[in-house]
Amino acid sequence: MTATHVPGLPVIDDGWLISTNPATGAEAGRVPVADEKAVVAAVERARAAAVWWQGLGFDGRKIRLLRWRTLMVQRIEELAELVHKESGKPLADGTIEAVAAVEHLDWAARHAKKVLGPRRVRTRILVAEHSGHLEYQPYGVVGVIGPWNYPIVTPVGPISGALAAGNAIVFKPSEYTPIVGQWLADTFAEVVPEHPVLQAVHGLGDVGGALCRSGVNKVSFTGSTATAKKVMAACAENLVPVVLEAGGKDALIVDADADVSAAAEAAVWGAMTNAGQTCIGIERVYAVEPVYDRFVEAVVEKAGKLRTGEEIGPITMPKQLDIIRDHIEDALAKGGKAVLGGAEAVQAPFVAPTVLVDVPDDSSEIREETFGPTLTITKVRDADEAVEKANDTPYGLGGSVFGKKNAIRIARRLRSGMVAVNGTLTFVGMGNLPFGGVGESGFGRIHGEDGLREFARAKAITVRRGPSLLPAMTFERTPAQVQQIVKALRLLYGRKP
Ligand code: NAD
Repeated sequence: MTATHVPGLPVIDDGWLISTNPATGAEAGRVPVADEKAVVAAVERARAAAVWWQGLGFDGRKIRLLRWRTLMVQRIEELAELVHKESGKPLADGTIEAVAAVEHLDWAARHAKKVLGPRRVRTRILVAEHSGHLEYQPYGVVGVIGPWNYPIVTPVGPISGALAAGNAIVFKPSEYTPIVGQWLADTFAEVVPEHPVLQAVHGLGDVGGALCRSGVNKVSFTGSTATAKKVMAACAENLVPVVLEAGGKDALIVDADADVSAAAEAAVWGAMTNAGQTCIGIERVYAVEPVYDRFVEAVVEKAGKLRTGEEIGPITMPKQLDIIRDHIEDALAKGGKAVLGGAEAVQAPFVAPTVLVDVPDDSSEIREETFGPTLTITKVRDADEAVEKANDTPYGLGGSVFGKKNAIRIARRLRSGMVAVNGTLTFVGMGNLPFGGVGESGFGRIHGEDGLREFARAKAITVRRGPSLLPAMTFERTPAQVQQIVKALRLLYGRKP
């Protein structure tokens, strides 16, 4: 590395990807960069491993996945330390992230059989002599492409579901956090040494592109909306199905009967945790007029206590600092006011907590993903106006509502995949709830039952149980039998409901 190296910026040197800490520039580790041939070779190895892994059945996979879970629990300090060393994330945040990953791994391992396993379905009249069977079969090899902001839980979510469903994985971690990604593959290999069921391949975006075109049977992508579109286009070439977990601009609504202090505490956490580098981070608040002043005051008081370099870690991706500064400056230039922080809050590699009010709706701070510890608070007439403004973005990932009487009704009206009522980000802590967005935040679901089904194909089988009394699906049926079928149908469904 040269003296001009920007701390945190990935460097490729002589076939190695070198990862550095964004706060100190210290090397976190290095991994070999994969070329297209290496990616295809990894997928071929995975294809053979997938056959073995699928053959273990749900019970064989469950025990191995639970062993991996236990390894993660036993070495949680090591994992948190590694994510801290590589991305700069505070240790406590890294620890809680690992806890969330364990939750998803445990849930997927324990529930895959029930959700995906073979079952009988009820016979229907047209083919009454046949029984129906449904099961969910794995795709084969799933390519997982991950971001850097939550390098443990964002890949472990889809990896858990895909592995539990019986797929092998080739994982392309973000170039900003390859060492954490490699740790996941290495520790999995410690508990499943027989075959390369989970492999990591490393490099910049082109390696992700190569993975999309490598012959994988499905791609699970988590990252920005702009890249999601490129991934979908690459996958379209071979009709490879995709699940896309993209960006967000989540809103929190504070209704008139909210506990204002609790709402402020949760807003500050939701906006500032991981220095705001959270896909489901709260970036906008809409507070109704009667509670607005108290809410702003409480947020400023609580956010003002956070210290950069302590609770607020560095911005992991150096070029994001310019975007955060641009958004703050745009908000201020258009008439917004900083009640905490401001343009000077951006001091590379840190951004101090910034709270903005009176920011116009057309400002980038309201419309685009900022991905920093900033929060806008907008005064609204009532919950209806709050919902309208909250939904007025192409994104639709998560969201939050604080209130009592109407909170759940408001939550249902938010255009998003998840909403926390009287909390923020909490839905990510439940392994049995699906996770995913609408609109520019992507489609498909990870986590929960839907997340397991995302990584399996529904397979329908009918089995003849006896001769047909009223044969319908054969040329050998007689006109009289057709009449009898119609008669039976009238008996069953002919009456007005
Ligand atoms: P990014 O889109 O820059 O990169 C994500 C991954 O895609 C990286 O591994 C990168 O190397 C790879 N990539 C880049 N170009 C590619 C291409 N042409 N083809 C295939 N792969 C390519 O995103 P990021 O900066 O790492 O992550 C931050 C973004 O991720 C934010 O927008 C955030 O909201 C989003 N995110 C979403 C979720 C979610 O679950 N919805 C979770 C975490 C982060």
